[in-house]
Amino acid sequence: MLAFLILVTVTLTSAHHPGEHFEGDKVFRVHVEDENHISLLHELASTRQMDFWKPDSLTQIKPHSTVDFRIKAEDAVAVEDFLGQNRLRYEVLISNLRSMMEAQFDSRVRATGHSYEKYNQWETIEAWTEQVASENPDLISRSAIGTTFLGNTIYLLKVGKPGSDKPAIFMDCGFHAREWISPAFCQWFVREAVRTYGREIHMTEFLDKLDFYVLPVVNIDGYIYTWTTNRMWRKTRSTKAGSTCVGTDLNRNFDAGWCRIGASTNPCDETYCGSAAESEKETKAVANFIRNHLSSIKAYLTIHSYSQMMLYPYSYDYKLPKNNVELNALAKAAVKELATLHGTSYTYGPGASTIYPAAGGSDDWAYDQGIQYSFTFELRDKGRYGFLLPESQIQATCEETMLAIKYVTSYVLEHLY
Ligand SMILES: [Zn+2]
Repeated sequence: MLAFLILVTVTLTSAHHPGEHFEGDKVFRVHVEDENHISLLHELASTRQMDFWKPDSLTQIKPHSTVDFRIKAEDAVAVEDFLGQNRLRYEVLISNLRSMMEAQFDSRVRATGHSYEKYNQWETIEAWTEQVASENPDLISRSAIGTTFLGNTIYLLKVGKPGSDKPAIFMDCGFHAREWISPAFCQWFVREAVRTYGREIHMTEFLDKLDFYVLPVVNIDGYIYTWTTNRMWRKTRSTKAGSTCVGTDLNRNFDAGWCRIGASTNPCDETYCGSAAESEKETKAVANFIRNHLSSIKAYLTIHSYSQMMLYPYSYDYKLPKNNVELNALAKAAVKELATLHGTSYTYGPGASTIYPAAGGSDDWAYDQGIQYSFTFELRDKGRYGFLLPESQIQATCEETMLAIKYVTSYVLEHLY
């Protein structure tokens, strides 16, 4: 407990946003109608630094879609001129990124240390994994499944009543460092599990009959970096000989059509697929754990943001999974359930056609390992705040997402294989 308090004290002394300040940076949304518009964006990208928020890279832009990207303050006027002169329809989603970054910390919870309604730093989450496990020994056990490039321990929480030969659902959060709502959801899920076990019939049945493996933060190094240095960081923090650029996109690093499409071989790109499939220690840790538990894992859920989507395989190809009809019906029903709480609308479908093709994703990989229920969730919002979703939306976002996750869990329990 003393160690816990010391950690909390240390983390609170650092300011919210040291490092890059983002004062005056803008986020644009451009409406892309045709190939000509895409060429214009390529032209723009050759002269200005563009941080793509949605889709993840220039190469993933499709006609009849929208593109969200961040532009540095000093380039904002020139970019706006370019868009205007070329008659590209656009909106400014965020006019000053810095103020939006500060506005994110709007939780009214005054807790020092860990809070489910605030974004927690890694040290706080790490201490929480130990505490929540020790306070609920009958429901939670914590293990380490590996270490990150920088030596942080990757923790996994097993949530469920002890039993033999139980089926399991694997859920991870925090693949992409800047998607802060994702780790917040994994923490929320664990809290809801322990809070409602024995009180709510569905959760009680779930934890009696199956185990949830919950990985609160996969990309710990990147997550820490978003707190200390660059809030907009996405990749890992690994380095390698031959390049000064840092980081690999973990969701391009799995052995599923690796680097074939929607991924980059350039280490300086945000969608860099790594030097080989599973080149990253974080990827290896997740993949090895799943491979070693394939007989029990019946569903794989990976939580990202933003755009409000529920996606299933494939993303590395336009081909459809064998149980496409079933996955489509399940996603449809789950997002309908999610919407009952606050009316939040989600789209759903196979990754490649619903969002864009991207190889090396963990959902495709898990599916090809034989896990028949494999979903990527893209949580709130649709771009108003993007990655800077205010803390005041954590509760509503997590509560509605719980409904979808619980729906999928019920379905999986009724369709064990
Ligand atoms: Zn993501």
